[in-house]
Amino acid sequence: MNNLDPDVAERWEDLVVYGGAGKAARNWDAYHRIVAALRTLGGDETLLVQSGKPVGVFRTHSDAPRVLISNAMLVPAWGDWDHFRRYEAMGLTMYGQMTAGSWIYIGTQGILQGTYETFGACARQHFGGTLAGRLVLSAGLGGMGGAQPLAVTLNGGVGLFVEVDRERIERRHRLRYVDRVTASLDEALAWAEEARARREPLSIGLAGNAAEIHPELARRGVRPDVVTDQTSAHDMLNGYIPAGLSPTEAAELRRRDPKEYLKRAYDAIAVQMRAMLEFQRQGAILFDYGNNFRREAENAGVSDFSYPGFVPAFIRPLFCEGQGPFRWVALSGNPEDIYTTDRVLMETLHGNDHLVRWLRLAQHRVPFQGLPARICWLGYGDRQKAGRIFNDLVASGRVQAPIVIGRDHLDSGSVASPNRETESMRDGSDAIADWPILNALLNTAAGATWVAVHHGGGVGIGYAIHAGMVVVADGTAEAGRRLDRVLTTDPGSGIMRHADAGYPEAIDAARRHGLNLPGITT
Ligand code: NAD
Repeated sequence: MNNLDPDVAERWEDLVVYGGAGKAARNWDAYHRIVAALRTLGGDETLLVQSGKPVGVFRTHSDAPRVLISNAMLVPAWGDWDHFRRYEAMGLTMYGQMTAGSWIYIGTQGILQGTYETFGACARQHFGGTLAGRLVLSAGLGGMGGAQPLAVTLNGGVGLFVEVDRERIERRHRLRYVDRVTASLDEALAWAEEARARREPLSIGLAGNAAEIHPELARRGVRPDVVTDQTSAHDMLNGYIPAGLSPTEAAELRRRDPKEYLKRAYDAIAVQMRAMLEFQRQGAILFDYGNNFRREAENAGVSDFSYPGFVPAFIRPLFCEGQGPFRWVALSGNPEDIYTTDRVLMETLHGNDHLVRWLRLAQHRVPFQGLPARICWLGYGDRQKAGRIFNDLVASGRVQAPIVIGRDHLDSGSVASPNRETESMRDGSDAIADWPILNALLNTAAGATWVAVHHGGGVGIGYAIHAGMVVVADGTAEAGRRLDRVLTTDPGSGIMRHADAGYPEAIDAARRHGLNLPGITT
């Protein structure tokens, strides 16, 4: 229900949470049947959800997950958009994105720290540690892309964000993720240049289509320092809007003539890509932001390029330590509960300056959407500590209700995604998908509260298999034991995956933490 809160979901009335058409339930009938099944579920029973539809309740045991979910799985030879869309039209499947169909999306905040870390790493690698005086150009201010403006200004930079849907820009503006809004390119450029010259942080939402604005910027000789993109290019039919169309006109064409829509969308992405490559030639740092833009541009006929995805470029060292986007939600609905968890976490992990800085920033700058929640990248050891702390807070009554702990599927041990999380793995294991399945099985065995496996997600059908888990801190001793186990197995499997691929940092982390990895640490 929190995934579908009107403040959280991009289009709750269609059950669409974020990321193109990432949904929480197959249809409204399935939604109501899921809720009814959960209301009567016993503490020793498990509900099975098949692509957004409840299909069975079985007696298991009290330490087993209460819900097991599988979304959008297709056998490999049928694992493409054409087959998926056919089965979706028959009412047999649903697109679960990463955290939409596994019920642990927490709004744009959920991706904010990852985006902040990414731009931070980019600043450290290329600009002496800050984006002050630098111009970042991107497009797409949707559920996740909407985190970019705030992530750039938190790193001191100036950001120009092109978004075709004015309503989306207004929404980010209302949530204070975007500082200024305009439909005038001249005005946007004047603001950007002034802020750049003064080295003042500023984010600008520019209403327009990237396939029109980007080439115009290139023509005018604008030189951004960093270029990326977060339109929903992973789903060219539902997520990328062709040049010359408003969102309403796009919806109409999509319905009336999907083939023509796709043709125009591919024409547009090719134009946008060529402009982005021109910025790169002029010296911009160009990276792919996990939306399969490179592959779809290639499908549109542009192939003379080379630039990395954000994971190999900036994030993999964190994955080697089992670090990733840990998150928690206060079921009380009381913001004070999150502030209490912030405080206790800062006291416990006070040596971790980066984390303390982030939590302070988040408290001041990040508005809650839906139930109060927090995101914070934590690794092996610290996640288990956080779980214990939260369970004790619930037990002692210092927070008013249980706390739900989960994470993005974009995590250390839970994804096989050759164009994103597992791009350019050291041992070439990019497309090996045993790892997320082992992660899900392990978290199930360890007693997570719900576990999900998905096909598709951020990069689209055919390009990724991944797993999610959620574990609830309800203050009981049994929950404490489950939390201890799950918050160890989950990041541990991330270290295992990277140690197996031969990353020295991961092998070192495995030894430091005493992980038993046959053939690696023994
Ligand atoms: P979304 O569908 O909510 O938003 C996409 C936005 O792009 C929409 O607002 C749409 O109007 C806009 N858009 C589409 N075509 C455009 C064009 N030609 N010009 C300008 N704007 C255009 O999606 P989202 O949740 O924001 O995710 C964006 C992409 O990032 C997805 O492909 C998603 O899978 C990917 N992604 C990113 C991360 C990450 O770590 N940042 C993680 C997972 C997925």
